[in-house]
Amino acid sequence: MRYNNANSFFREKFGTKIIKISLDGGFTCPNRDGTLSYGGCIFCSEKGSGDFAGDRKLDIEKQFEINKVKMSKKWKDGKYIAYFQAFTNTYAPLEYLKELFIKASNLPDVVGIFIATRPDCITEEIAKFLYELNKKIYVCIELGFQTSKAESIKLINRCYDNIVFENCVKMLNNYNLDIIVHTILGLPYETKNDMLETIKYVSKFNINGIKLQLLHIIKDTNLHKLYLKNNFKILTLEEYVDIVVSCIEILPPNIVIHRITGDGDKNTLVEPKWSLNKKVVINSINKQLIERDTFQGKKSI
Ligand code: SF4
Repeated sequence: MRYNNANSFFREKFGTKIIKISLDGGFTCPNRDGTLSYGGCIFCSEKGSGDFAGDRKLDIEKQFEINKVKMSKKWKDGKYIAYFQAFTNTYAPLEYLKELFIKASNLPDVVGIFIATRPDCITEEIAKFLYELNKKIYVCIELGFQTSKAESIKLINRCYDNIVFENCVKMLNNYNLDIIVHTILGLPYETKNDMLETIKYVSKFNINGIKLQLLHIIKDTNLHKLYLKNNFKILTLEEYVDIVVSCIEILPPNIVIHRITGDGDKNTLVEPKWSLNKKVVINSINKQLIERDTFQGKKSI
């Protein structure tokens, strides 16, 4: 592979195939419950961008069991990561988090816990607890960042400034917790250069992984409404591939790329429809990496 990909990282770290099981920990989000705003980030779906998570009405043991059966049709052997993806997974009292994450760490064959959250929702005391938990089981924090561009931050209603991200990363570094940063490529009105600036910005920090997520317009989100109203430009497959390859080139080689496209749900995805054929997207990226004779870190600073 011409980039540092998650599969190889997991194989090296755990010595086997790793399967992520998406769990719903019953959270909400300050950007949706009125603490910061009611609307949420404009791209966020009804399920808090955790569309493949388990059913929140069930306890996590049951969710795990159900999703594990589904995943075992695709992957026969391997170990598991308990993935808390939906909403903001540290937005709760510490006692609740302790109970939930300790429970997750005891699920059968689970070797890691991935926690997606906002950088303004991790306190020092939460980090301290996760630091202790990380001694027992691998813990990784996924931070929703999306973009460093001021106009886009406002447009997507992210509701925190870049400095909050910077401080959070430094704090998590102090607790030796691994960090994956989520970015979105193709936000309305962003140029290729804007997207590369975001990648350069996050690369300056001590982070372990990144997700390069293609912007998905999901039915009935605020982004969908904006699209219907303003019909902003959607990236074509060719444009996306060119941008992703340029991002890969500037990313330092040590940063693991956990995503280079996105998993849209065909029932709710409005655009870009071409992204539903994930195989074609990934093959096109790999082909272009070869054609441009390039690789991760070739142009990193
Ligand atoms: S922070 Fe996450 S859960 Fe909250 S509105 Fe934004 S995308 Fe949705």
